Amino acid sequence: MKTRKTMKEAVVFYPAPLIGHLVSTIELCKLILSHRPSLAIHILITIAPYDTATASNYISAVSTALPSVSFHNLPPFTIPQTLLSSSLNHESLLFHLLHHNDPHLHQTLLSLSQTHSIKALIFDILSTQSIPIASQLNIPSYIFNPSNASILAVFLYHRTLHQKYLQSFKDLNTFLNIPGVPPMPSSDMPKPLLHRNDEAYHNFLSCSLAADKAAGYIVNTFEALEPSSTKAISQGLCLLDFPVAPLFCLGPIVAANAEKNASDHKHQCLRWLDSQPSKSVVFLCFGSLGVFSKEQLCEIAIGLEKSNQRFLWVVRNPVTEQKHNLALGLQEEPDFELLLPKGFLERTKEKGLVVKSWAPQAAVLKHDSVGGFVSHCGWNSVLEAVCGGVPMIAWPLYAEQRFNRVVLVEEIKVALWMHESESGFVAATEVEERVRELMESERGNRVRERVTGLKDEAKGAVREDGSSHVALVKLLKSWKSPEDSK
Ligand code: UDP
Repeated sequence: MKTRKTMKEAVVFYPAPLIGHLVSTIELCKLILSHRPSLAIHILITIAPYDTATASNYISAVSTALPSVSFHNLPPFTIPQTLLSSSLNHESLLFHLLHHNDPHLHQTLLSLSQTHSIKALIFDILSTQSIPIASQLNIPSYIFNPSNASILAVFLYHRTLHQKYLQSFKDLNTFLNIPGVPPMPSSDMPKPLLHRNDEAYHNFLSCSLAADKAAGYIVNTFEALEPSSTKAISQGLCLLDFPVAPLFCLGPIVAANAEKNASDHKHQCLRWLDSQPSKSVVFLCFGSLGVFSKEQLCEIAIGLEKSNQRFLWVVRNPVTEQKHNLALGLQEEPDFELLLPKGFLERTKEKGLVVKSWAPQAAVLKHDSVGGFVSHCGWNSVLEAVCGGVPMIAWPLYAEQRFNRVVLVEEIKVALWMHESESGFVAATEVEERVRELMESERGNRVRERVTGLKDEAKGAVREDGSSHVALVKLLKSWKSPEDSK
């Protein structure tokens, strides 16, 4: 066995098996390595039954580009027949996978400790139930939330809300007071928390209960973007009766799309944007999983056409009963002739561009021609919009996005509210009015000015003396061995 002095210093990450969380984890690793290249980084990978080629291709590309990062596949989990035949939802399956990992997590950490001095184990907000395993091995645990500080506030405050209310949030019909968060309609709480009897709800609660053992919280945000929630967490208002662990706001950490400059390599939509007037185009794109029915796509098309605004729209094939969400990676390309209203593409060809399935979003949002973004409110999309100074129309679809909409509209004030029916359907007139409002009205201008200011704040936060840079330096310092600081 190596002596402690000759051991390589390492940080271990344990992300949840979701591609978005993995991408955020890698971006955080890159940031850490850019300041401490000598650190070894180990990432524990949960092989999920719904994994697609996207995840494995991504991992192999990262392994080549970042030699200091090693991936460790934990043994795969075979879903037992009893679970398959129950109505298992995505979140519950995810927690089953993570529970199954526990003995392997312990084993892998033991074996890594033979050769490395592990400075920190960074749990995903969804994998914190396993913090006691790190504690047994005396490894300091941190919680990384790839989403915002307001969600972390809810996560920490969940136990208090659980005690206060006996009904499911979906049935409460009230506003919840969560420290640092605007009054939150109970039905807009993150989706897995809505049903009190749901397995996922209890798993989240257990994750939240493990949070008081963390040595710190890491969030992809910056203080000027979420001053209320960051303050409430730091002052210990969210996790009552426990000493406050430090909060490290390191954001915005945004993945750059590797778009080539040469025009023949540029994505078609970036070339099209080059020919549009400054701040004139509304961009519509709904994350890695956002899909609509054919009826909803038609409604969006009619609304866009009537709004008379320029647009760039990413359209995916609708998911049918047979092609369940979990198989999204295998989706076929959409057929616009079948999906969009007759003659729509021809009539709008001077003003709009529709692209199939995927666009280089981060690059699009940085483009000067883009003046508005209809977004599903996924946190990476929000940060990319803020960094590009692009105001939003908030149209949440899944996960914690309804919650994010309230924060974006009421607190951060960088988005307008898209109104939907109870079933989530948005009418063409609503699309038309909101898009016009964002692009042409006084209210739209106010939101634009606000986000332009935050774009500058975002740049400032990651500069040498900025709040996120200072927080990163503090975090890295806390991982130094006492003998190193002598
Ligand atoms: N994205 C993209 N092109 C697309 C759709 C998504 O580049 O057509 C990227 C987007 O830039 C963002 C990520 O995928 O970085 C989506 O993350 P987010 O947190 O917004 O939403 P999620 O997919 O997790 O719901």
